[in-house]
Amino acid sequence: MAMRKIALVFVTAVILPSLVLAWLAARSIRDQQFLIERQQSIICQGLADRLAAEVQAQIEASRRAFTNRVERLAGDPGSPSPPSSFDERLRQDWPLAEVGFVVSLDGRILAPERSTRDEARNFLEFNERFLTGRELVQVYANKGLPPTQQPVLPAAQAPANRYDPTARAQQRSVLPQQSLQQLQIEEPSSQPGPQNANAPPQLQNVSALVPSTTEFRRLIGEDRSGMLARFVENRLFLLFWHRPAARPELAFGAQINLPELVRQVGDRLPGAVDPALHNDVCVALLDDNARPMALSRPGFQAVWKRPFVATEIGEVLPHWELAVYLADPAKLTQAARVTHLALGLVLAVLVAAIGVGSWLIIADLKRQVRLAAQKTDFVSNVSHELKTPLTSIRMFSELLAGGGVAEPDRQRLYLNIIAAETARLTRLINNVLDFARLQRGERKYCFERCDLADLVRETAATSRLHLERSGFHFDCDLPASPLWVAADRDALAQVILNLLSNAEKYSGDQKEITLRLADTGRGMAELRVLDRGLGVPPGCEEKIFEQFFRAHDNLNSGIPGSGLGLTLARELARAHGGEITYTPRPGGGSCFALRLPLAPAAASAAGAPAPLAKAAAL
Ligand code: ADP
Repeated sequence: MAMRKIALVFVTAVILPSLVLAWLAARSIRDQQFLIERQQSIICQGLADRLAAEVQAQIEASRRAFTNRVERLAGDPGSPSPPSSFDERLRQDWPLAEVGFVVSLDGRILAPERSTRDEARNFLEFNERFLTGRELVQVYANKGLPPTQQPVLPAAQAPANRYDPTARAQQRSVLPQQSLQQLQIEEPSSQPGPQNANAPPQLQNVSALVPSTTEFRRLIGEDRSGMLARFVENRLFLLFWHRPAARPELAFGAQINLPELVRQVGDRLPGAVDPALHNDVCVALLDDNARPMALSRPGFQAVWKRPFVATEIGEVLPHWELAVYLADPAKLTQAARVTHLALGLVLAVLVAAIGVGSWLIIADLKRQVRLAAQKTDFVSNVSHELKTPLTSIRMFSELLAGGGVAEPDRQRLYLNIIAAETARLTRLINNVLDFARLQRGERKYCFERCDLADLVRETAATSRLHLERSGFHFDCDLPASPLWVAADRDALAQVILNLLSNAEKYSGDQKEITLRLADTGRGMAELRVLDRGLGVPPGCEEKIFEQFFRAHDNLNSGIPGSGLGLTLARELARAHGGEITYTPRPGGGSCFALRLPLAPAAASAAGAPAPLAKAAAL
């Protein structure tokens, strides 16, 4: 019952709080990991957004450079030159131009000349109808046009559209592993992304760019300059146009040399990546089929369609992406794995520590509970042990005092019984008092050089009469020469008496006790107390030396005892630098051996060995 209560307290006070703490620790480490991942994706997304804006700015700068050239080439009233030569002059002046063209606002193409080059011929083939307002095509323009405009031309004139808009379905060419949107779903309070902010989660992979179906005249409207991009036969074409101040009725334009433009963008890419990130990521400019056009780390390889994060560049390069790849994609998961492993280990150690701690505490509690029970037994045992001799003493002394016992033999018998019972009482009280003194560390010893054989002989003599009267065959086998030891005579006598008393108590019907003293030859004297009695039950050989422990308790055996005799005997033996051990006696019975160090033959009485000197100080 007590144990169950203790276990309950233990579970609620130790195990439950520990488990809750472990769970909280696990959660916080997982959150930490998530935070690290989120920070990394925010940093990378920021990089992709910034570089995409830089590419846009770079193309915008090229467009302004084009505008300046047009103003110079076409708008100089001092040296008017025919618009038909614009293609050639522009290409000579500006390497980004692949084809220069001139369109009048009333729908005539003044340049390039059809027969000159392949590029010019192709340009006219693809763009003539669009530029002259006879064909509606899908274009991406960096100005706000309505998403889709219905054809304004009669159905008969409706152009054959070379670009199939459904083929692209306006899906993004890449599927980023991390998207800013995802982060915003998890943390709605953060800044909305630049493009997809309003898109529902399932549309994450849809491009933010919407083409407009229009023709050239309508597209430029009243604007002076601009740019447009369109796909023809799945190839991207980028056109700049400008109406110079001097000749606003003409739109001068250029089809951009895309490889040259990409080269210029690519040249600036490595320098645009923050040095701190340079080794950890690779930035790629991907075309509309997710093919790498330029890399910040030449030779880098990756699954191009699966960047870590990506940003669409915008209308200037529709469906092109600025993508960021992790140099070591396993690093994040590896870090997560290491964290989880560390966490698992910490938890395992924690659980093991709790387990071991619990086991130790429970073992100690068990010991305490057992000790408490033994103490209770001890009190009843001691009371019983005190009562029995007192009853005999009182009864026989009353008989003698009453004068009713006339025979001298009988008188002597009663007196002997009284003497034996008094000795038993004295021994018990001495044991209890000595035990209390030992517990408090107050037991004092008076060591002197003495002959152990002599001491054993004396002590045996005091017990002999009583033992023989009780029917024991008591044998003493002592050496003829002295065995010198440094000892407290009273303490050693108490040890020997306790062992003899036990031999008597636990002998049962086999009333035979032997004392055997000898020099073991290894500087030790050994006194063995042998009986042919009950013996110590197996498994209790060491326990019998614990305080209050009784292998044969009162209830089962009817043998009175306090469970202190052997505890005390061992303590006293150890205080002399010796030891007491138990071994079963061959042929039945017990053998208790008291071993004591021999004192040097010529040593003085004061010369106690080190352990003795220490014990003497107690
Ligand atoms: P007690 O007062 O019970 O005898 P002890 O400390 O002297 O206490 O002994 C502890 C236990 O060791 C005893 O209860 C008994 O079970 C066992 N014991 C001691 N001496 C003997 C012996 N000579 N033969 C068998 N058992 C013994």
